[in-house]
Amino acid sequence: MSRRWIFADQLGPHFLDDHDQQLLLIESKAVFRRRAFHRQKAHLILSALRHRAAELGDQATYVRAETYRDGLRQVPGPIEVCQPTSRRARDLVRSLERVTVLPPRGFVTSTADFTAWADDRRGAMRLDDFYRHARRQHRVLLDGDEPVGGRWSLDADNRQPPPKDSEGLDVPLPPLPQEDDIDAEVRYDLDRWAAEGIRFVGRDGPRLFPATRAEATARLRHFLHHRLPKFGPYENAMLSTDPFMAHSLLSPSFNLGLLDPMEAIRGAEQAYREQHAPLSSVEGFVRQLLGWRDFVWHLYWYFDAGHRGGDRLGARRSVPAWFADLDADAVQARCLADVLAGVRDRGWVHHVPRLMVLANYGLQRGWRPSELVDWFQRSFVDGHEWVLTANVLGMNQYADLGQVSTKPYAAGGAYVNKMSDYCGGCRYDPKQQLGEHACPYTAGHWVFLDRFRERLPGNPRMARSLRQLDRLDDLPAIREQEKRRGSTAP
Ligand SMILES: Cc1cc2nc3c(=O)[nH]c(=O)nc-3n(C[C@H](O)[C@H](O)[C@H](O)COP(=O)(O)OP(=O)(O)OC[C@H]3O[C@@H](n4cnc5c(N)ncnc54)[C@H](O)[C@@H]3O)c2cc1C
Ligand code: SF4
Repeated sequence: MSRRWIFADQLGPHFLDDHDQQLLLIESKAVFRRRAFHRQKAHLILSALRHRAAELGDQATYVRAETYRDGLRQVPGPIEVCQPTSRRARDLVRSLERVTVLPPRGFVTSTADFTAWADDRRGAMRLDDFYRHARRQHRVLLDGDEPVGGRWSLDADNRQPPPKDSEGLDVPLPPLPQEDDIDAEVRYDLDRWAAEGIRFVGRDGPRLFPATRAEATARLRHFLHHRLPKFGPYENAMLSTDPFMAHSLLSPSFNLGLLDPMEAIRGAEQAYREQHAPLSSVEGFVRQLLGWRDFVWHLYWYFDAGHRGGDRLGARRSVPAWFADLDADAVQARCLADVLAGVRDRGWVHHVPRLMVLANYGLQRGWRPSELVDWFQRSFVDGHEWVLTANVLGMNQYADLGQVSTKPYAAGGAYVNKMSDYCGGCRYDPKQQLGEHACPYTAGHWVFLDRFRERLPGNPRMARSLRQLDRLDDLPAIREQEKRRGSTAP
Protein backbone atom coordinates (compact mmCIF):
# COMPACT_ATOMS: atom_id res chain seq x y z
CA MET A 1 0.00 0.00 0.00
CA SER A 2 1.23 3.52 -0.81
CA ARG A 3 2.36 5.84 1.92
CA ARG A 4 0.62 9.24 1.81
CA TRP A 5 2.90 12.28 1.80
CA ILE A 6 1.28 15.31 3.38
CA PHE A 7 2.69 18.79 2.81
CA ALA A 8 2.65 21.51 5.48
CA ASP A 9 -0.57 22.93 4.03
CA GLN A 10 -2.38 19.57 4.02
CA LEU A 11 -2.57 18.98 7.76
CA GLY A 12 -6.28 18.34 8.42
CA PRO A 13 -8.23 15.06 8.39
CA HIS A 14 -9.78 15.92 5.02
CA PHE A 15 -6.40 15.22 3.39
CA LEU A 16 -6.57 11.57 4.49
CA ASP A 17 -8.83 8.70 3.37
CA ASP A 18 -7.71 5.63 5.23
CA HIS A 19 -7.03 6.34 8.86
CA ASP A 20 -4.55 3.44 9.14
CA GLN A 21 -2.49 4.50 6.14
CA GLN A 22 1.20 5.22 6.75
CA LEU A 23 2.00 8.90 6.34
CA LEU A 24 5.08 10.91 5.46
CA LEU A 25 5.88 14.49 6.48
CA ILE A 26 9.06 16.18 5.23
CA GLU A 27 10.56 19.31 6.73
CA SER A 28 12.75 20.94 4.07
CA LYS A 29 15.32 23.48 5.23
CA ALA A 30 16.02 24.63 1.67
CA VAL A 31 12.54 26.22 1.56
CA PHE A 32 13.70 28.68 4.23
CA ARG A 33 17.08 29.28 2.62
CA ARG A 34 15.55 30.30 -0.69
CA ARG A 35 13.88 33.53 0.50
CA ALA A 36 13.58 35.61 3.67
CA PHE A 37 10.27 34.62 5.30
CA HIS A 38 8.67 36.38 8.25
CA ARG A 39 9.99 34.79 11.39
CA GLN A 40 6.46 34.13 12.71
CA LYS A 41 5.45 32.51 9.45
CA ALA A 42 8.42 30.15 9.58
CA HIS A 43 7.50 29.37 13.19
CA LEU A 44 3.86 28.68 12.41
CA ILE A 45 4.63 26.34 9.50
CA LEU A 46 7.23 24.32 11.41
CA SER A 47 5.12 24.23 14.54
CA ALA A 48 2.05 23.02 12.63
CA LEU A 49 4.03 20.34 10.78
CA ARG A 50 5.71 19.06 13.94
CA HIS A 51 2.48 19.13 15.96
CA ARG A 52 0.79 17.05 13.27
CA ALA A 53 3.62 14.52 13.28
CA ALA A 54 3.40 14.29 17.09
CA GLU A 55 -0.38 13.71 16.94
CA LEU A 56 0.03 10.97 14.34
CA GLY A 57 2.71 9.13 16.36
CA ASP A 58 3.73 5.78 14.83
CA GLN A 59 1.45 6.30 11.85
CA ALA A 60 3.78 8.98 10.50
CA THR A 61 7.39 9.16 9.42
CA TYR A 62 8.83 12.62 10.01
CA VAL A 63 11.91 13.44 7.96
CA ARG A 64 14.12 16.51 8.40
CA ALA A 65 16.11 17.07 5.22
CA GLU A 66 17.72 19.77 3.13
CA THR A 67 15.31 19.30 0.21
CA TYR A 68 12.15 17.29 -0.47
CA ARG A 69 14.12 15.05 -2.84
CA ASP A 70 16.68 14.34 -0.10
CA GLY A 71 13.84 13.56 2.29
CA LEU A 72 12.19 11.14 -0.12
CA ARG A 73 15.44 9.20 -0.54
CA GLN A 74 15.14 8.18 3.11
CA VAL A 75 11.73 6.53 2.59
CA PRO A 76 11.25 3.39 0.42
CA GLY A 77 8.16 2.27 -1.49
CA PRO A 78 5.33 3.84 -3.43
CA ILE A 79 4.03 7.23 -2.36
CA GLU A 80 0.86 9.21 -3.07
CA VAL A 81 0.20 12.88 -2.47
CA CYS A 82 -2.71 15.31 -2.96
CA GLN A 83 -1.70 17.89 -5.54
CA PRO A 84 0.40 20.54 -3.78
CA THR A 85 -0.64 24.19 -3.91
CA SER A 86 2.22 25.75 -5.87
CA ARG A 87 3.34 25.13 -9.44
CA ARG A 88 6.88 24.48 -8.28
CA ALA A 89 5.80 21.75 -5.83
CA ARG A 90 3.28 20.31 -8.29
CA ASP A 91 5.98 20.02 -10.96
CA LEU A 92 8.29 18.36 -8.45
CA VAL A 93 5.82 15.65 -7.41
CA ARG A 94 4.82 15.04 -11.02
CA SER A 95 8.45 14.47 -11.95
CA LEU A 96 8.93 11.71 -9.36
CA GLU A 97 8.32 8.26 -10.79
CA ARG A 98 7.15 6.47 -7.65
CA VAL A 99 4.80 9.26 -6.60
CA THR A 100 1.11 9.21 -7.59
CA VAL A 101 -0.51 12.65 -7.59
CA LEU A 102 -4.15 12.81 -6.43
CA PRO A 103 -6.49 15.75 -7.12
CA PRO A 104 -6.07 18.81 -4.88
CA ARG A 105 -8.18 19.21 -1.71
CA GLY A 106 -8.94 21.98 0.75
CA PHE A 107 -11.35 23.98 -1.42
CA VAL A 108 -15.08 23.74 -1.91
CA THR A 109 -15.32 23.64 -5.70
CA SER A 110 -13.43 21.24 -7.96
CA THR A 111 -11.04 22.12 -10.76
CA ALA A 112 -13.25 20.41 -13.34
CA ASP A 113 -16.26 22.41 -12.23
CA PHE A 114 -14.40 25.73 -12.32
CA THR A 115 -12.91 24.99 -15.73
CA ALA A 116 -16.34 24.21 -17.19
CA TRP A 117 -17.76 27.39 -15.64
CA ALA A 118 -14.83 29.53 -16.86
CA ASP A 119 -14.80 28.07 -20.37
CA ASP A 120 -18.49 29.01 -20.67
CA ARG A 121 -17.57 32.62 -19.84
CA ARG A 122 -14.89 32.74 -22.56
CA GLY A 123 -12.36 34.32 -20.23
CA ALA A 124 -14.58 37.09 -18.80
CA MET A 125 -14.72 35.88 -15.23
CA ARG A 126 -16.34 37.79 -12.44
CA LEU A 127 -16.37 36.89 -8.78
CA ASP A 128 -20.10 37.61 -8.39
CA ASP A 129 -21.00 35.24 -11.16
CA PHE A 130 -18.74 32.45 -9.85
CA TYR A 131 -20.03 32.98 -6.31
CA ARG A 132 -23.66 32.57 -7.38
CA HIS A 133 -22.73 29.44 -9.29
CA ALA A 134 -20.91 27.96 -6.25
CA ARG A 135 -23.75 28.80 -3.87
CA ARG A 136 -26.28 27.14 -6.14
CA GLN A 137 -24.11 24.11 -6.71
CA HIS A 138 -23.37 23.54 -3.01
CA ARG A 139 -26.75 24.79 -1.79
CA VAL A 140 -25.40 27.45 0.54
CA LEU A 141 -27.74 30.12 1.96
CA LEU A 142 -30.57 29.21 -0.39
CA ASP A 143 -34.32 29.18 0.04
CA GLY A 144 -35.40 26.86 -2.76
CA ASP A 145 -33.32 28.07 -5.71
CA GLU A 146 -33.18 31.68 -4.58
CA PRO A 147 -30.76 33.39 -2.20
CA VAL A 148 -31.90 33.67 1.39
CA GLY A 149 -33.15 37.22 1.93
CA GLY A 150 -33.64 37.82 -1.81
CA ARG A 151 -30.16 39.16 -2.69
CA TRP A 152 -27.02 37.26 -3.58
CA SER A 153 -24.71 39.91 -2.15
CA LEU A 154 -25.20 42.25 0.79
CA ASP A 155 -21.87 43.93 0.13
CA ALA A 156 -23.52 47.36 -0.03
CA ASP A 157 -24.61 46.96 3.65
CA ASN A 158 -21.05 46.12 4.72
CA ARG A 159 -19.19 49.35 4.13
CA GLN A 160 -19.56 51.18 7.40
CA PRO A 161 -16.67 53.31 8.65
CA PRO A 162 -15.39 52.46 12.13
CA PRO A 163 -17.59 53.60 15.01
CA LYS A 164 -16.69 57.17 16.03
CA ASP A 165 -14.66 57.85 19.19
CA SER A 166 -14.20 54.17 19.77
CA GLU A 167 -11.00 52.24 20.38
CA GLY A 168 -12.35 49.00 19.07
CA LEU A 169 -15.38 46.92 18.20
CA ASP A 170 -17.14 45.48 21.17
CA VAL A 171 -16.17 41.87 20.44
CA PRO A 172 -14.00 39.49 22.48
CA LEU A 173 -10.53 38.66 21.15
CA PRO A 174 -10.12 35.21 19.62
CA PRO A 175 -8.63 32.56 21.92
CA LEU A 176 -4.83 32.65 21.68
CA PRO A 177 -2.83 29.45 21.40
CA GLN A 178 -0.76 28.28 24.37
CA GLU A 179 2.80 27.63 23.24
CA ASP A 180 4.27 24.27 24.27
CA ASP A 181 7.52 22.27 24.09
CA ILE A 182 7.19 21.90 20.32
CA ASP A 183 7.05 25.69 19.96
CA ALA A 184 10.08 26.02 22.22
CA GLU A 185 11.99 23.55 20.03
CA VAL A 186 10.94 25.41 16.86
CA ARG A 187 12.10 28.72 18.36
CA TYR A 188 15.44 27.16 19.31
CA ASP A 189 15.91 25.73 15.79
CA LEU A 190 15.01 29.02 14.09
CA ASP A 191 17.47 30.92 16.31
CA ARG A 192 20.11 28.39 15.30
CA TRP A 193 19.24 28.69 11.59
CA ALA A 194 19.39 32.48 11.85
CA ALA A 195 22.85 32.20 13.44
CA GLU A 196 23.88 29.97 10.50
CA GLY A 197 22.87 32.73 8.08
CA ILE A 198 19.25 31.92 7.11
CA ARG A 199 17.56 35.32 6.92
CA PHE A 200 14.13 36.13 8.32
CA VAL A 201 12.14 39.37 8.32
CA GLY A 202 9.76 40.69 10.97
CA ARG A 203 9.86 40.22 14.73
CA ASP A 204 9.52 37.02 16.63
CA GLY A 205 6.66 36.91 19.13
CA PRO A 206 4.23 34.55 20.85
CA ARG A 207 2.46 32.35 18.32
CA LEU A 208 -0.86 34.03 17.49
CA PHE A 209 -2.29 31.53 15.02
CA PRO A 210 -3.42 27.91 15.46
CA ALA A 211 -0.90 25.17 14.76
CA THR A 212 -3.24 22.25 15.49
CA ARG A 213 -6.72 21.29 14.41
CA ALA A 214 -7.91 21.57 18.02
CA GLU A 215 -6.68 25.17 18.23
CA ALA A 216 -8.18 25.98 14.82
CA THR A 217 -11.61 24.51 15.58
CA ALA A 218 -11.66 26.37 18.92
CA ARG A 219 -10.96 29.63 17.08
CA LEU A 220 -13.65 28.88 14.49
CA ARG A 221 -16.27 28.09 17.15
CA HIS A 222 -15.40 31.26 19.07
CA PHE A 223 -15.63 33.34 15.88
CA LEU A 224 -19.04 31.93 14.93
CA HIS A 225 -20.46 32.62 18.38
CA HIS A 226 -18.83 35.88 19.36
CA ARG A 227 -17.34 37.74 16.41
CA LEU A 228 -19.36 36.85 13.30
CA PRO A 229 -22.34 39.09 14.18
CA LYS A 230 -20.16 42.19 13.86
CA PHE A 231 -18.09 40.90 10.92
CA GLY A 232 -20.23 42.32 8.12
CA PRO A 233 -20.86 45.99 8.89
CA TYR A 234 -17.22 46.78 9.73
CA GLU A 235 -15.58 44.43 7.24
CA ASN A 236 -13.88 47.32 5.44
CA ALA A 237 -13.12 49.59 8.39
CA MET A 238 -9.70 50.16 10.01
CA LEU A 239 -8.87 51.34 13.53
CA SER A 240 -5.35 52.11 14.71
CA THR A 241 -6.28 50.74 18.14
CA ASP A 242 -7.94 47.52 16.93
CA PRO A 243 -6.08 45.67 14.18
CA PHE A 244 -8.41 42.64 14.35
CA MET A 245 -11.86 44.28 14.26
CA ALA A 246 -14.36 41.38 13.83
CA HIS A 247 -12.31 39.43 11.30
CA SER A 248 -11.98 35.71 11.83
CA LEU A 249 -8.16 35.40 11.85
CA LEU A 250 -8.65 32.01 10.29
CA SER A 251 -6.85 32.37 6.95
CA PRO A 252 -3.68 30.56 8.14
CA SER A 253 -5.84 27.70 9.45
CA PHE A 254 -7.63 27.28 6.11
CA ASN A 255 -4.37 27.63 4.22
CA LEU A 256 -2.50 25.09 6.37
CA GLY A 257 -5.40 22.71 5.76
CA LEU A 258 -6.26 22.55 9.48
CA LEU A 259 -9.83 23.60 8.72
CA ASP A 260 -12.03 22.59 5.81
CA PRO A 261 -13.65 25.79 4.45
CA MET A 262 -16.99 24.01 4.11
CA GLU A 263 -17.21 23.41 7.88
CA ALA A 264 -16.86 27.17 8.43
CA ILE A 265 -19.42 27.96 5.71
CA ARG A 266 -21.97 25.53 7.17
CA GLY A 267 -21.24 26.87 10.67
CA ALA A 268 -21.91 30.43 9.54
CA GLU A 269 -25.09 29.37 7.77
CA GLN A 270 -26.29 27.65 10.94
CA ALA A 271 -25.52 30.82 12.96
CA TYR A 272 -27.87 32.70 10.61
CA ARG A 273 -30.62 30.06 10.68
CA GLU A 274 -30.47 30.00 14.50
CA GLN A 275 -30.55 33.81 14.57
CA HIS A 276 -27.15 34.23 16.23
CA ALA A 277 -25.82 36.41 13.41
CA PRO A 278 -27.42 38.73 10.85
CA LEU A 279 -27.52 37.82 7.19
CA SER A 280 -25.22 40.70 6.14
CA SER A 281 -22.41 39.26 8.31
CA VAL A 282 -23.03 35.65 7.37
CA GLU A 283 -23.34 36.33 3.65
CA GLY A 284 -20.25 38.57 3.80
CA PHE A 285 -18.19 35.82 5.43
CA VAL A 286 -19.47 33.13 3.06
CA ARG A 287 -18.66 35.38 0.06
CA GLN A 288 -15.04 35.72 1.23
CA LEU A 289 -14.61 32.02 1.79
CA LEU A 290 -16.72 30.27 -0.84
CA GLY A 291 -16.45 33.17 -3.29
CA TRP A 292 -13.06 34.84 -3.11
CA ARG A 293 -10.96 32.03 -1.67
CA ASP A 294 -12.09 29.41 -4.17
CA PHE A 295 -12.11 31.94 -7.03
CA VAL A 296 -8.48 33.03 -6.57
CA TRP A 297 -7.38 29.41 -6.09
CA HIS A 298 -8.83 28.38 -9.44
CA LEU A 299 -7.57 31.47 -11.24
CA TYR A 300 -4.03 30.62 -10.18
CA TRP A 301 -4.24 27.31 -12.05
CA TYR A 302 -6.54 28.41 -14.86
CA PHE A 303 -4.06 30.93 -16.20
CA ASP A 304 -0.71 29.58 -17.21
CA ALA A 305 2.53 30.41 -15.38
CA GLY A 306 3.32 33.35 -17.67
CA HIS A 307 0.51 35.39 -16.19
CA ARG A 308 2.25 35.67 -12.84
CA GLY A 309 4.41 38.47 -14.22
CA GLY A 310 1.69 39.98 -16.41
CA ASP A 311 1.26 43.70 -15.93
CA ARG A 312 -1.10 45.89 -17.91
CA LEU A 313 0.25 49.06 -16.29
CA GLY A 314 3.92 48.46 -17.04
CA ALA A 315 5.12 48.98 -13.43
CA ARG A 316 8.90 48.48 -13.35
CA ARG A 317 10.25 49.93 -10.08
CA SER A 318 11.72 47.68 -7.42
CA VAL A 319 10.11 47.34 -4.01
CA PRO A 320 12.30 49.63 -1.82
CA ALA A 321 14.41 48.26 1.05
CA TRP A 322 12.44 49.98 3.86
CA PHE A 323 9.26 48.25 2.65
CA ALA A 324 10.95 44.89 1.99
CA ASP A 325 12.52 44.95 5.48
CA LEU A 326 9.23 46.01 7.18
CA ASP A 327 10.96 49.12 8.54
CA ALA A 328 7.84 50.83 9.88
CA ASP A 329 9.95 53.25 11.93
CA ALA A 330 11.21 54.83 8.70
CA VAL A 331 7.65 55.85 7.76
CA GLN A 332 5.82 58.98 8.91
CA ALA A 333 2.53 58.49 7.05
CA ARG A 334 0.44 57.21 9.96
CA CYS A 335 -1.64 54.67 8.07
CA LEU A 336 1.32 53.05 6.33
CA ALA A 337 3.53 53.14 9.44
CA ASP A 338 0.86 51.40 11.53
CA VAL A 339 0.02 48.78 8.91
CA LEU A 340 3.68 48.02 8.17
CA ALA A 341 4.30 47.72 11.92
CA GLY A 342 1.39 45.23 12.06
CA VAL A 343 3.07 43.13 9.37
CA ARG A 344 6.44 43.38 11.17
CA ASP A 345 5.00 42.44 14.59
CA ARG A 346 2.34 39.86 13.63
CA GLY A 347 2.73 38.88 9.97
CA TRP A 348 -0.97 39.65 9.58
CA VAL A 349 -3.22 42.66 8.96
CA HIS A 350 -6.76 42.40 7.66
CA HIS A 351 -7.96 42.68 4.08
CA VAL A 352 -8.40 46.45 3.74
CA PRO A 353 -4.94 47.49 5.00
CA ARG A 354 -3.50 44.89 2.61
CA LEU A 355 -5.44 46.21 -0.36
CA MET A 356 -5.89 49.93 0.26
CA VAL A 357 -2.75 50.80 2.26
CA LEU A 358 0.01 48.37 1.21
CA ALA A 359 -0.86 47.23 -2.31
CA ASN A 360 -2.36 50.63 -3.17
CA TYR A 361 0.92 52.32 -2.29
CA GLY A 362 2.86 49.88 -4.47
CA LEU A 363 0.43 50.51 -7.31
CA GLN A 364 0.78 54.29 -7.05
CA ARG A 365 4.58 54.10 -6.93
CA GLY A 366 4.83 51.69 -9.85
CA TRP A 367 6.42 48.77 -7.98
CA ARG A 368 6.77 45.56 -9.94
CA PRO A 369 3.69 43.37 -9.28
CA SER A 370 5.71 40.15 -9.25
CA GLU A 371 7.95 41.60 -6.50
CA LEU A 372 4.86 42.60 -4.53
CA VAL A 373 3.47 39.08 -4.82
CA ASP A 374 6.76 37.73 -3.49
CA TRP A 375 6.79 40.31 -0.67
CA PHE A 376 3.27 39.44 0.48
CA GLN A 377 4.01 35.75 0.28
CA ARG A 378 7.13 36.03 2.45
CA SER A 379 5.82 38.60 4.93
CA PHE A 380 2.37 37.26 5.85
CA VAL A 381 1.64 34.21 7.98
CA ASP A 382 -1.08 33.19 5.51
CA GLY A 383 0.90 34.08 2.34
CA HIS A 384 0.81 31.57 -0.52
CA GLU A 385 1.53 32.10 -4.18
CA TRP A 386 -1.90 30.79 -5.24
CA VAL A 387 -3.82 33.32 -3.17
CA LEU A 388 -1.61 36.28 -4.00
CA THR A 389 -1.43 35.99 -7.74
CA ALA A 390 -5.05 37.03 -8.30
CA ASN A 391 -5.31 39.27 -5.23
CA VAL A 392 -2.28 41.36 -6.10
CA LEU A 393 -2.02 41.03 -9.87
CA GLY A 394 -5.69 40.78 -10.70
CA MET A 395 -7.43 43.04 -8.21
CA ASN A 396 -4.96 45.56 -7.02
CA GLN A 397 -2.49 45.88 -9.84
CA TYR A 398 -5.03 45.37 -12.62
CA ALA A 399 -2.39 43.26 -14.32
CA ASP A 400 -3.09 40.97 -17.19
CA LEU A 401 -5.12 38.30 -15.40
CA GLY A 402 -7.84 37.93 -17.97
CA GLN A 403 -10.87 39.99 -17.01
CA VAL A 404 -10.76 39.53 -13.26
CA SER A 405 -11.25 43.13 -12.21
CA THR A 406 -12.90 45.99 -14.05
CA LYS A 407 -10.53 48.57 -12.61
CA PRO A 408 -7.43 48.73 -10.41
CA TYR A 409 -8.08 49.13 -6.68
CA ALA A 410 -6.51 52.58 -6.43
CA ALA A 411 -7.51 55.29 -3.98
CA GLY A 412 -6.26 58.51 -2.43
CA GLY A 413 -6.19 59.68 1.19
CA ALA A 414 -9.94 60.42 1.18
CA TYR A 415 -10.68 56.68 1.24
CA VAL A 416 -8.33 56.07 4.19
CA ASN A 417 -9.79 59.10 5.96
CA LYS A 418 -13.35 57.84 5.54
CA MET A 419 -12.67 54.23 6.52
CA SER A 420 -10.21 54.70 9.40
CA ASP A 421 -9.06 56.89 12.28
CA TYR A 422 -5.55 57.27 10.87
CA CYS A 423 -5.61 60.71 9.29
CA GLY A 424 -6.46 62.67 12.47
CA GLY A 425 -3.06 62.01 14.02
CA CYS A 426 -0.98 62.14 10.84
CA ARG A 427 1.59 64.74 9.89
CA TYR A 428 0.01 64.76 6.41
CA ASP A 429 -3.45 66.01 5.48
CA PRO A 430 -5.61 63.79 3.24
CA LYS A 431 -7.13 66.90 1.60
CA GLN A 432 -3.77 68.38 0.61
CA GLN A 433 -1.98 67.29 -2.52
CA LEU A 434 0.78 69.85 -2.67
CA GLY A 435 3.24 71.17 -0.11
CA GLU A 436 4.72 70.06 3.18
CA HIS A 437 1.54 68.39 4.41
CA ALA A 438 0.52 66.83 1.10
CA CYS A 439 -0.78 63.31 1.74
CA PRO A 440 1.37 60.84 -0.21
CA TYR A 441 -1.73 58.76 -1.02
CA THR A 442 -3.75 61.71 -2.32
CA ALA A 443 -0.91 63.16 -4.40
CA GLY A 444 0.19 59.66 -5.41
CA HIS A 445 -3.31 58.88 -6.63
CA TRP A 446 -3.40 61.89 -8.97
CA VAL A 447 -0.01 61.09 -10.38
CA PHE A 448 -1.04 57.46 -10.85
CA LEU A 449 -4.17 58.48 -12.78
CA ASP A 450 -2.17 60.98 -14.82
CA ARG A 451 0.55 58.46 -15.67
CA PHE A 452 -1.76 55.64 -16.72
CA ARG A 453 -4.83 57.45 -18.03
CA GLU A 454 -4.45 55.95 -21.50
CA ARG A 455 -4.33 52.41 -20.14
CA LEU A 456 -7.15 52.68 -17.61
CA PRO A 457 -10.55 51.21 -18.39
CA GLY A 458 -13.30 53.53 -19.58
CA ASN A 459 -15.81 52.60 -16.87
CA PRO A 460 -17.95 55.33 -15.23
CA ARG A 461 -16.08 55.34 -11.91
CA MET A 462 -12.73 55.81 -13.62
CA ALA A 463 -14.21 58.47 -15.91
CA ARG A 464 -15.33 60.47 -12.87
CA SER A 465 -11.82 60.37 -11.36
CA LEU A 466 -10.27 61.39 -14.69
CA ARG A 467 -12.64 64.37 -14.99
CA GLN A 468 -11.50 65.52 -11.52
CA LEU A 469 -7.90 65.09 -12.64
CA ASP A 470 -8.53 67.34 -15.64
CA ARG A 471 -9.74 70.09 -13.31
CA LEU A 472 -6.51 70.14 -11.25
CA ASP A 473 -4.55 73.38 -11.82
CA ASP A 474 -1.50 72.26 -9.89
CA LEU A 475 -0.94 68.90 -11.59
CA PRO A 476 2.55 69.80 -12.97
CA ALA A 477 3.70 70.78 -9.44
CA ILE A 478 2.19 67.58 -7.95
CA ARG A 479 4.02 65.56 -10.61
CA GLU A 480 7.32 67.21 -9.65
CA GLN A 481 6.70 66.73 -5.92
CA GLU A 482 5.89 63.02 -6.31
CA LYS A 483 8.83 62.51 -8.63
CA ARG A 484 11.05 63.79 -5.82
CA ARG A 485 9.30 61.57 -3.27
CA GLY A 486 9.56 58.53 -5.57
CA SER A 487 9.73 55.31 -3.56
CA THR A 488 11.33 56.81 -0.47
CA ALA A 489 9.54 56.13 2.82
CA PRO A 490 6.74 58.74 3.04
C1 LIG B 1 -3.09 42.44 -1.45
C2 LIG B 1 -3.74 41.28 -0.76
C3 LIG B 1 -2.98 40.22 -0.30
C4 LIG B 1 -3.61 39.12 0.31
N1 LIG B 1 -2.84 38.05 0.70
C5 LIG B 1 -3.43 36.95 1.22
C6 LIG B 1 -2.65 35.81 1.57
O1 LIG B 1 -1.44 35.80 1.38
N2 LIG B 1 -3.28 34.73 2.11
C7 LIG B 1 -4.63 34.73 2.31
O2 LIG B 1 -5.16 33.72 2.77
N3 LIG B 1 -5.39 35.78 1.98
C8 LIG B 1 -4.82 36.89 1.45
N4 LIG B 1 -5.59 37.97 1.12
C9 LIG B 1 -7.04 37.90 1.32
C10 LIG B 1 -7.49 38.44 2.70
O3 LIG B 1 -6.93 39.72 2.90
C11 LIG B 1 -7.09 37.51 3.83
O4 LIG B 1 -7.53 36.21 3.55
C12 LIG B 1 -7.74 37.94 5.15
O5 LIG B 1 -7.38 39.27 5.43
C13 LIG B 1 -7.29 37.01 6.25
O6 LIG B 1 -7.81 37.41 7.50
P1 LIG B 1 -9.08 36.66 8.14
O7 LIG B 1 -8.82 35.21 8.20
O8 LIG B 1 -9.40 37.37 9.39
O9 LIG B 1 -10.17 36.92 7.03
P2 LIG B 1 -11.73 37.24 7.12
O10 LIG B 1 -11.91 38.66 6.79
O11 LIG B 1 -12.29 36.74 8.39
O12 LIG B 1 -12.32 36.39 5.90
C14 LIG B 1 -12.66 35.01 6.05
C15 LIG B 1 -11.84 34.14 5.13
O13 LIG B 1 -12.14 34.40 3.78
C16 LIG B 1 -10.99 34.14 2.97
N5 LIG B 1 -10.72 35.33 2.17
C17 LIG B 1 -11.17 36.59 2.40
N6 LIG B 1 -10.81 37.41 1.39
C18 LIG B 1 -10.10 36.67 0.53
C19 LIG B 1 -9.46 36.97 -0.70
N7 LIG B 1 -9.49 38.18 -1.25
N8 LIG B 1 -8.79 35.97 -1.29
C20 LIG B 1 -8.75 34.74 -0.75
N9 LIG B 1 -9.35 34.40 0.39
C21 LIG B 1 -10.03 35.36 1.03
C22 LIG B 1 -9.84 33.83 3.91
O14 LIG B 1 -9.63 32.44 3.95
C23 LIG B 1 -10.34 34.32 5.26
O15 LIG B 1 -9.83 33.60 6.34
C24 LIG B 1 -5.00 39.08 0.48
C25 LIG B 1 -5.75 40.17 0.02
C26 LIG B 1 -5.14 41.24 -0.59
C27 LIG B 1 -5.96 42.37 -1.09
S1 SF4 C 1 -3.20 61.75 5.77
FE1 SF4 C 1 -2.60 60.40 4.11
S2 SF4 C 1 -0.72 59.43 4.86
FE2 SF4 C 1 -1.70 60.33 6.64
S3 SF4 C 1 -2.95 58.70 7.51
FE3 SF4 C 1 -4.25 59.83 6.10
S4 SF4 C 1 -4.09 58.76 4.17
FE4 SF4 C 1 -2.39 58.07 5.43
